[in-house]
This record gives sequence, C-alpha cells and structure tokens, in this order.
Amino acid sequence: FSLKVQNVINHHIEESFVYQDNGRTYRIILTPISHQNETLIFIYDITKEIQLNQMKEDFFSNASHELKSPLTTILGYLQMIEEGILTEKSDIEDAFFRITKEAKRMNSIISEMLNLASLEVNQNEKTITDLSIFETTQDILSSFKRDIKQKELKIEIENKDDFKVKMHAMDLYHLISNLVSNAIKYNQQKGKVKITIQKPFFVISDTGIGIPYSEQSRIFERFYRVDKAKSKELGGTGLGLAIVKHVVNNYDLTIELQSKEKEGTTFKVG
Ligand code: ADP
Repeated sequence: FSLKVQNVINHHIEESFVYQDNGRTYRIILTPISHQNETLIFIYDITKEIQLNQMKEDFFSNASHELKSPLTTILGYLQMIEEGILTEKSDIEDAFFRITKEAKRMNSIISEMLNLASLEVNQNEKTITDLSIFETTQDILSSFKRDIKQKELKIEIENKDDFKVKMHAMDLYHLISNLVSNAIKYNQQKGKVKITIQKPFFVISDTGIGIPYSEQSRIFERFYRVDKAKSKELGGTGLGLAIVKHVVNNYDLTIELQSKEKEGTTFKVG
C-alpha cells in the first residue's frame, strides 16, 4: 500500500485498485495533490455492489440451465420421432405427453421469472387497493380445485379477523397462491391444509412431507429445491418461495417457517 502511495507521489498519477479485507470489498483510489507530497485516498465499500452482481450472474446461469434442460428433452423426443426411432403409437403418445409436460414447465419458469421481474418494479408505480385476504384465498383455492380433489385433501379456512390489506392485487395473489400451491403439492394423499386469516396477515399449515431443518434457511433462494426431481415431477420451478419472499419484503411483512419432516409445514406471514 505504501509503495502505491509513493508511486502516486513520485509520478503524479492516479492509482485505483480493489482491496479485500474481512469479507468486505473496497475500491481504493489514490489521487495526487498537485505539487505537494501528499495523496488523497478515497475508499469506497463496494461489497453490496459485488454481491448484487454475483447474484445477477448466478440468476442468469441458473435460469439458462433450468430452461435448457426441458428444451433438451423436447428436442430429443422430436428428433426420435423425426428419425423414425419411435414408431409404436404408444411410444409416440408417451413422447408427446413428455414434450407437453416439459413445454409447460418452461412456460411456468418463464412466467415466474417475469413475475419476479415485475416485483423489482418501483413499488410507487403500483396500484394499491384495499383487498380481502379471505376473498383472494377463496379464489385461489377454487383454481386448485382439481388438485385438491385428486389428492383428496381436506381444506380448512378460518376467517378469524375480518380485515383488508393495502396491496397491489397481483402481489397479494402471488404471495398466497405460491404458499397454497406448495401446501397442496407437497401434501400427502388425504392430507390437510389449514389457513387461518388473522391480523396482520395469515397462517397456512399443511400435513405434507415437511422440510428438513438443514434446508430451511435456503428454500427462499431462487431455484433452490429440497428434492429437485420431486419438485420437477410436480411441475415446480423453484421460484415460488423467492416470489413470496420478495412480496413479503416489499410490504415490510415477515415470514416465519416451522416444519418437521414427514409431519408438515407452517408458514406464518405477519
Ligand atoms: P417449487 O416450485 O419447487 O415448489 P418453491 O420456491 O415454491 O419451489 O419452494 C422451494 C422448495 O421448498 C420446494 O422445492 C420444496 O422442496 C420446499 N417446499 C416449499 N414449500 C413446502 C411445503 N409446504 N412442504 C414441503 N416442502 C416445501
């Protein structure tokens, strides 16, 4: 460091370099003061900037990977059909089933990425209205009617406090629908989902597979899944809880998670 300072003084040139210490990153700029044997030192803490850039890079590489794998499957099946490798009607039907499934998955990944991007839009530009969590939850539950029936789930919804929240309608929708979707997806046959609407927001519990303690701190990360194969099989994208977390942060809410493997999971938004 003193060598660099000496260099600046001797040659009257500006020096700039990056310095790391104790997990933080600094940009240091040394500027000579004209005709004096002194140097101005600017120190900028750029740790946040670096972290943000890293996150963006990770996101792009994960997103590309996530989109590439279903596309590879689709192209593989199409090629097999084109080259006449699949000739049996049942094999071709099976290929179409898989192609459709993978295409749907790509579609969900892209829509959820767009949802995430729209959450980054300035909060002030959004239309905020008084919304009922109870009504929104009922609408969402009716859109999952088929899955609920298929899994023979018992759904209990308790409107403890009657109140409205000031939110952008789509934000509220995404927040609740991702949690409801998981409570259904990761539940077991004949399981239960209980939703209690109580101030300041709500609690949702399920009797599903649960989340191992060691994974609990990571599940809100983009594209993170406890069991990747299972999530894929169920049409998951790994972005649902990242969207939930984003909405929660945007509205200064909090989200608590309680879960036990093979017993169930509770998310409390407040
Ligand atoms: P996905 O699209 O895979 O469901 P999410 O971001 O919504 O992605 O959730 C991340 C991961 O957290 C899931 O893949 C799953 O492993 C776990 N998870 C989330 N909610 C539940 C739940 N209610 N019960 C069990 N596991 C859950």
